[in-house]
Amino acid sequence: MAEPVKVYPPGGGGDILEVIPLGAGSEVGRSCCLVKYRGKSVLFDCGVHPAYSGLASLPFFDAIDADEIDLALITHFHLDHCAGLPYLLERTNFNPKARIFMTHPTKAIYKALLSDFVRVSSHSTSSEENLYNEQDILKTMERIESLDYHQEMTVNGIRFWAYNAGHVLGAAMFMIEIAGVRVLYTGDFSRQEDRHLKEAEIPPYKPDVLIVESTYGVQVHEPRKIRESRFTQKVAQAVRRGGRVLLPVFALGRAQELLLILDEFWEAHPDLQEVPIYYASMLAKRCMTVYQTYINMMNDNVKKRYDVSNPFAFKYVSNLRGMDQFDDSQPCVIMASPGMLQSGLSRELFERWCTDKRNACIIPGYCVDGTLAKHILTEPTSISRASDGKELPLRCSVDYITFSAHSDFLQTSQFIDQAKPTNIVLVHGESNEMGRLRLALEDRYNKGSEGHKIKIFTPKNTQAVQLEFHGERIGKAIGVLPKRKPENGLEISSVIIRQDFNHTLVKQEDLSTYTNIKISKISQKLVVPIRRSFTTLTGEVVRTFGGVETGVSKESSRPYFTVGRGVSVEPVGDGLSVAIKWLAGYKADMIADSIASICISMNDLVEKDPVTFELDDDYYKRSLEVSRKMLASRFGTVLGVEGDKNKSRLVLDLVEVVVDHHSGEVECEDELIRERVRMALRRIQAAVFPIPDYYCDCCACSTMDNTEPDQKKVKVEEPADKDAKSEGKRPTGPPVDSVDGVKVKQDEEKVQAKTEILDYALGTEASIQGSSEGGLQEAGMKVGELGQGLQAKDEPLLDTLPVKEEPKPVDTPTPVDMDVVKDEPA
Ligand SMILES: [Zn+2]
Ligand SMILES: [Zn+2]
Repeated sequence: MAEPVKVYPPGGGGDILEVIPLGAGSEVGRSCCLVKYRGKSVLFDCGVHPAYSGLASLPFFDAIDADEIDLALITHFHLDHCAGLPYLLERTNFNPKARIFMTHPTKAIYKALLSDFVRVSSHSTSSEENLYNEQDILKTMERIESLDYHQEMTVNGIRFWAYNAGHVLGAAMFMIEIAGVRVLYTGDFSRQEDRHLKEAEIPPYKPDVLIVESTYGVQVHEPRKIRESRFTQKVAQAVRRGGRVLLPVFALGRAQELLLILDEFWEAHPDLQEVPIYYASMLAKRCMTVYQTYINMMNDNVKKRYDVSNPFAFKYVSNLRGMDQFDDSQPCVIMASPGMLQSGLSRELFERWCTDKRNACIIPGYCVDGTLAKHILTEPTSISRASDGKELPLRCSVDYITFSAHSDFLQTSQFIDQAKPTNIVLVHGESNEMGRLRLALEDRYNKGSEGHKIKIFTPKNTQAVQLEFHGERIGKAIGVLPKRKPENGLEISSVIIRQDFNHTLVKQEDLSTYTNIKISKISQKLVVPIRRSFTTLTGEVVRTFGGVETGVSKESSRPYFTVGRGVSVEPVGDGLSVAIKWLAGYKADMIADSIASICISMNDLVEKDPVTFELDDDYYKRSLEVSRKMLASRFGTVLGVEGDKNKSRLVLDLVEVVVDHHSGEVECEDELIRERVRMALRRIQAAVFPIPDYYCDCCACSTMDNTEPDQKKVKVEEPADKDAKSEGKRPTGPPVDSVDGVKVKQDEEKVQAKTEILDYALGTEASIQGSSEGGLQEAGMKVGELGQGLQAKDEPLLDTLPVKEEPKPVDTPTPVDMDVVKDEPA
């Protein structure tokens, strides 16, 4: 594949639209152009090249993956626009789900024309060279769908419709729209009304890309009247001097226009009426019914005449079945195909008549390079005979008076003026002609600083033109959502439904009303074994989530609790397991997971040998020491108790107090002092032992009231430390060090938070009492804000900081703390 033509700066972030000519790129023939955008592929036309035969005449299908094509649109029945289609459909991996469209008359004539094409090519080429057979054509007929001009269709999110192209009966230009970007492919078009066809329409919508034929380049057609009179004069002169006139034409399309002209001229000149006009095409005869059927698609001239009689039932034209019934002794006019004298009847007649100077050959249409018709326009003195290569002197007159309904420079530039495309891709033009047209268009639109600038491209076959588009993506809100008038910055939450390139925003509760989407709820149930009592589990869950609702199940008469709005936990079986039940959802899933992990971690703790824990665990010894020191800092000298490592002795207000660091129990005669020391001990224990042992099932202290805040503080500290250890693992996010002062500040916050916990544990900061949670939350928030500061300064560190905005069903300061720690530098 050739290097693409890119016209966008790298990294623009838009979507790339590609236009790839597979044929008719800087040439005329085998029109075939692929447009790709946002994962959709549309193929315009699929023709063969008239100057080549066999595989060489096909478009470059191997440059693409035919399996990716979603839609194929055929503009008209000329072989250079449609004769490659059976090969593409039947001999390549063309997407079996792709849809193929053409207008009704095109489809009707397509079949007859291609059958004729297969018949003619099988005569002139070897069987290996035949691209496909009659069966292949029939198969394509089943897949081709027809449409009317302006009938809007959508295939796979690609919107498209056709306009009249004025070139031959049923010729269409196609406008496609993919994700708001419009591409107009003209095919062959003419903006000049003739005897039977209307002029091509100008689309009312501006295309972003115009793919336009450039057959006649910068040439301007001579006015129709002058051209017609030159033509009829040439014909009349030749027959009046006793000669024969050959008009090589393509069987259908422009031939009908020439017949209308000649029939009318003969009518007006009685002296010519003796001279026969032959139309040597059985194919055209067969297709006349199609012409009569679609009179309504032609112009008023034909429609008016049709009221009187069939305008295609010619008075002076007769059909020639074959050369055997043709008396070649008198002057005559013959229209024969093919139009470029490549082979067949027109070639045979030309070779027979070219040596006689009374005869005339008038080429009435565009000729492609490499064909005999193009060659004789260069005024050679002889030509070589197709059958044996024998040189034949060229004595007859040869003229070129084009009636081919292709746009000339005036028509093309006026069309562009009105259609106002932003990009133009030129196709269907011989390379030099196309180059001249490009220069002329550049001169017209892109000279000077003013005016409507247009990018113009002339890609070769298989060379992609890549254009970047920044399509706006609009989401339409429906249901209750649009009831509130939107304002700038308003955050909304809804479900976005994308269908093709349309986005719809709808609240979840409206889904069933406005869409086909069904909503299901998934009930989850998880049974986890527990090694402690249900009451202990309840206490642990309360400490993590800040509160639960408790009750007794009516069915099982067992206690249960619920967390958040929908996670319920109750004992099952013999009470050694709990069932966690919830409706699936991201919050409930997380809560359920947390409860399950609490159950499992409680079980782990039980499995540890308590004796080993007490006597041999270094951690326990250190904790005991810290506990004693903290008690001393609060109440003065603390002494050990002989025989019991777990106990300490101190004297307060002249009263002896013995404390048990293990059980949390305090012995003292004075009830007030006992309570005071007991409270202090609790807090110390809470600070130094992660899960104090007095939280056992048998202990009355396992109720969650006064001990709860202490525990929470410990909980908050824990993950912070854990994460601090694994800080280095974080692979992403900019180093915080790079932001001046932030690291220090963040550390300060952490230190401050720790200090508060310690103070509170010692009971010296009375003001914090009762609001410990708020204090922690605030510390978390401060760090959170810090994170936001970073976010604004650099790329996002914290994807979301939901703490502030989102109301939570349960109060969990922990995740905030964890998030922040994660963002500390390694
Ligand atoms: Zn054409
Ligand atoms: Zn063409």
